[in-house]
Amino acid sequence: MTVLERIQLLRDELNNHNYNYYVLDNATISDFDFDIKLKELEKLETENPQFFDANSPTQRVGGAITKNFETVAHKNRMYSLDNSYSKEDLLDWEKRVQKGLGREDLEYTCELKFDGASINLTYENGKFIKAVTRGDGFQGDNVTANVKTIRSIPLSIKKGFVSNFQMRGEIILPLAGFNKMNEERVANGEEEYRNPRNTASGSLKLQDSAEVAKRPLDCLLYQVVTEERKYKTHFEILENARKVGFKVPKTITLAKSIEEVFNFVNHWDKKRHDLPYETDGVVIKVNNLQQQEELGYTSKAPRWAIAYKFKAEQVSTVLNEITYQVGRTGAITPVANLEPVQLAGTTVKRASLHNADQIEKLDIRVNDTVFVEKGGEIIPKIIAVDFTKRPANSQPTIYATNCPECNTELIRTEGDAKHYCPNEFGCAPQITGRIQHYISRKAMDIDGLGGETVDLLRKVGLIQNYADLYDLKVEQIIPLERMAERSAQNMIAGIEKSKDIPFEKVLFALGIRFVGETVAKKLAKHFKSIDQLMSATFEELVNVDEIGDRIAQSIVDFSNNLGNIQLIERLKNYGVQLEVSAESLENQTNKLQGQIFVVSGVFHQMSRNELKKAIEDNGGKVSSSISKKTNFIVAGDNMGPSKLTKAQDLGISMISEQDFIDKIS
Ligand code: AMP
Ligand code: ZN
Repeated sequence: MTVLERIQLLRDELNNHNYNYYVLDNATISDFDFDIKLKELEKLETENPQFFDANSPTQRVGGAITKNFETVAHKNRMYSLDNSYSKEDLLDWEKRVQKGLGREDLEYTCELKFDGASINLTYENGKFIKAVTRGDGFQGDNVTANVKTIRSIPLSIKKGFVSNFQMRGEIILPLAGFNKMNEERVANGEEEYRNPRNTASGSLKLQDSAEVAKRPLDCLLYQVVTEERKYKTHFEILENARKVGFKVPKTITLAKSIEEVFNFVNHWDKKRHDLPYETDGVVIKVNNLQQQEELGYTSKAPRWAIAYKFKAEQVSTVLNEITYQVGRTGAITPVANLEPVQLAGTTVKRASLHNADQIEKLDIRVNDTVFVEKGGEIIPKIIAVDFTKRPANSQPTIYATNCPECNTELIRTEGDAKHYCPNEFGCAPQITGRIQHYISRKAMDIDGLGGETVDLLRKVGLIQNYADLYDLKVEQIIPLERMAERSAQNMIAGIEKSKDIPFEKVLFALGIRFVGETVAKKLAKHFKSIDQLMSATFEELVNVDEIGDRIAQSIVDFSNNLGNIQLIERLKNYGVQLEVSAESLENQTNKLQGQIFVVSGVFHQMSRNELKKAIEDNGGKVSSSISKKTNFIVAGDNMGPSKLTKAQDLGISMISEQDFIDKIS
C-alpha cells in the first residue's frame, strides 16, 4: 500500500466512524482506537504535506483564526418562514396551497422546528466548500473555519447523492452540552449563558476556531437546494441525504392530510421536552418538489411551507426585587429579579417589566408569585400575578422617581410609556450607550472597536462622547488592559474609515431619540444636510412624509441643545459626512415621484435591494404587496403565479428589469 492509499484509507475509516457516532448515534469504534488512527493520519499528513486536504478528518480541531467574517452573497436566498399559531391557521394555509396548485390531494412533510442559527453549507462534487450564516437572507457571514469543527457535518459525502448542492440546517447546542458549558462557567466564576440558541449563534462568530471545536455544537439538516433533478420529493431527498452523511433528524414524517399533520403537532407538543435539544414548533412543507416550485415565494417566505409555533411555556416563581435599567436614550426599563426557575430548558432569573403602566396594569409587587412566559425573545416576560399567593403585608409598587445610575429625577412626558433620565451628558449608561450605538454595525460600523472597549475608554476618561473618538491616539490606547499595538492601530484605522460613512447612516448613528434607521433615511433624503435638518422648525418637520409630532419634537430638542450643537460642529471638523454626497445627489431624481412599485421575482442586472434603492432614489415608493394603488410591478424571473394573477386581475402594468432601467436612465 502506498502512503497515499494508507492516508485515503484512514480518512475514509475515520469519516465513517464519525458518521456512525455523530449522525447515527451508534459508535463503531472505541474513543481510544479512534485517537490512534487519527494520530497516525496526522503523522502521515505532516510527513507528506503534498497530500494535504482541507477536508481531512484531521482538520476538525480548528486553529484557524478569523478576524473579520467575510460577507458572502447566497446563491439562493434564505427565506424566513410564515408562522401559524392555531389549527385554523394551518387549515387556511392548506386552502391557500390547494388553491394555488388547483388540486386537493397533497402530501406534506412534518419536521420539528429547531431553534438555533440557520446555516447554508455549500457542497461541490460531494465536497464541503463553505458555510455561510443566514444574515439578512441575501448575504451572510462566511463561518467555514468554525463550522468545519462540527463533527456531525460531513466534509465529504458518500457516493450516490446529487453532487452540487446547498444543504441548509440549524446549528444548535443540545441541552446537555449547554448545561455542561454553564456548569463550567459557574465553576470559573463567570456569568452563565442565557440560552442555547444565542450561545450557538455566538459560537459561530468566535474568532478562534479551536475554541469553537471545544463547544458541543451540532447541526441538524432540513433542506437541500440543488438544480439537479434527481429526486421528486422533499422527503426522498432528505432520506438520501442522511444515507450519504448528513444528520437529518429521523423525526421527519410524511402526512397524507392536514389531520395527519395535526397528529404530529399534538404528539410533539407533549413530547418535545424529552428531546435532547430545543424546538419551538413544527415546520410543514409541501412534499412534492415540482409543486413547491409552482407555489414559489412571497416577499419573505416560501408559500409551500409554514411553521406552527407551540404555545409559549409558562412557569410561576417569586419576584424578589424590581431594578431599573437605563438605556442609551435615557429610557428606563424596569426589570423583575426572580427566584431562579427552569423554563423551556434554561434558568430564568430576570424578566422585563416594560414600563410603569405595565406594572400598574398587572399590579405587580415585590414578593408576589408571578407567571413567567418565554416566547421567541431572549428576556422572558411576566404575564400575570398569582393573587392567591400574595403575602398579607404586600404593598403596591412605587415606581422609581430617580435615576438608579445618576440619581437625577426621572421625567415622563404625556403620551410616553417610558420614564426617562434627562441627564443626557452626565449619566454613565447614556454616555456609554450613545457611543456604543454610534460605532455599531448599522450605524458607523467601526471595525476594531467593541462595546466593552467603549465602556473601558469612557471609564478611564479617554472619551466622553462620540466626537472624542476622533481625537484618540494609538499611544493612549496601547497601555489599556487587553490592548496591543496591533489592536490599537486597527481601532484608530476603523475610526478613521468611519469618516466615509454616508450621511443617512451618520444621522442614525447620532442616536436622536425616535430617529431609527428608516426615519434617518427619510430625513437625510429630505433635508440633505445636518444644518438644514437642525434649522428646520417643528412645522417643517411634521410636513415631511411619515414624520410625526413625536419625532419632530425630538429633533427640535436635539437641535436646540448646546452640547449637541458643539458635538456636531466637531464631527464636521473631523470630516464626518454630515451632508448627502454630491455623488448620491447625482443619482437622485424625481422621475418616479408619486409612483408605487412592487418588485417580484429574480433579477440579473441589479440585486433586489439595488432595485428598491433605485426606486426610492428616483422618488418612487416600494410596496411589498400588490394592491389597487400599485402603479408598476417590476417582474423578474419566477414571479409567483398568484402575484401574476393578482396583477393581471387588477390590470397593473408589469415591466421588466430592463424596462425599469430604461425608465430611470
Ligand atoms: P423564523 O426565523 O421564525 O422566520 O423561522 C425560519 C427559520 O426556521 C428558518 O430560517 C430556519 O433557520 C428555521 N428552521 C428550523 N427548523 C426548520 C425546519 N425543519 N425546516 C425549515 N426551517 C427550519
Ligand atoms: Zn441617569
